[in-house]
Amino acid sequence: MKIISDIQELRAQLRGQNRASFVPTMGNLHEGHLSLMRLARQYGDPVVASIFVNRLQFGPGEDFDSYPRTMDADIAKLEKEGVYVLFAPHEKDLYPEPQEYRINPPQQLGDILEGEFRPGFFIGVCTVVMKLFSCVQPSVSIFGKKDYQQLMIIRQMVQQFALPMQIIPAETIRADDGLALSSRNSYLSQNERAEAPQLRMTLEVLRQEILSLGPSDPKQLLALEKKAKEALIARGWKPDYIAIRQQKDLLIPSAIDSTPLVILAAAKLGKTRLIDNLEV
Ligand code: AMP
Repeated sequence: MKIISDIQELRAQLRGQNRASFVPTMGNLHEGHLSLMRLARQYGDPVVASIFVNRLQFGPGEDFDSYPRTMDADIAKLEKEGVYVLFAPHEKDLYPEPQEYRINPPQQLGDILEGEFRPGFFIGVCTVVMKLFSCVQPSVSIFGKKDYQQLMIIRQMVQQFALPMQIIPAETIRADDGLALSSRNSYLSQNERAEAPQLRMTLEVLRQEILSLGPSDPKQLLALEKKAKEALIARGWKPDYIAIRQQKDLLIPSAIDSTPLVILAAAKLGKTRLIDNLEV
């Protein structure tokens, strides 16, 4: 595997490749990330991964400084997966001068849910992803459904800018007890780690309740959201949101109809903020 930090060197290495399959990450790789590498291999060749902890998408007071950085272990995992190039730029490579041009996703998608609780988050994500796409010029890129809203925003960005590439969604990989794998799980204490699967369980209960309602009535859905939130609060969590939304646009289901739904949640357990989602 070639490990490259310089944009020009990356371009030289990938010259003539027009089927590259790309997986952007922030590193501290786990089985969730590795499943994306395997999916990438099915959709293109060579597989290119990136590791970059993107300062632009962290708000003040968030965990940019403490975000786990485990480059040596990550490299060994990517070697095993047969990744051809790891693009691991330093900040000075990707942002040699302040990144003043930024991608601003539409408010109705970028400022809700994660965007409401992490202002500017999706501007940072879209900007770095656009720049990484420009460096790698892949024909395919893989994103996890774990970050459901992010996947939707990137898909629409690619469509709106007519980027000549396909975005492939990957299913969420979970620990045996149901907790979605995440680099941030390493922040959890032993007791918190034992409690953490409750987030997913709460979503499961909510899903069953929605299904037993039949055609969804927005008022009833709101009441179910509230109940789920209270259940988590009672266990010591601090939920940012638990939201039942339409899969197609993440908006609140408008009327009684059978549009496919998804439940999205973000909640703090101690100092650790976890997110998860479940399609109904
Ligand atoms: P991150 O390193 O957290 O920026 O994630 C990089 C990519 O891996 C994103 O597309 C995530 O959605 C995806 N990802 C993170 N956790 C998981 C997981 N548990 N299962 C599947 N994909 C994941």
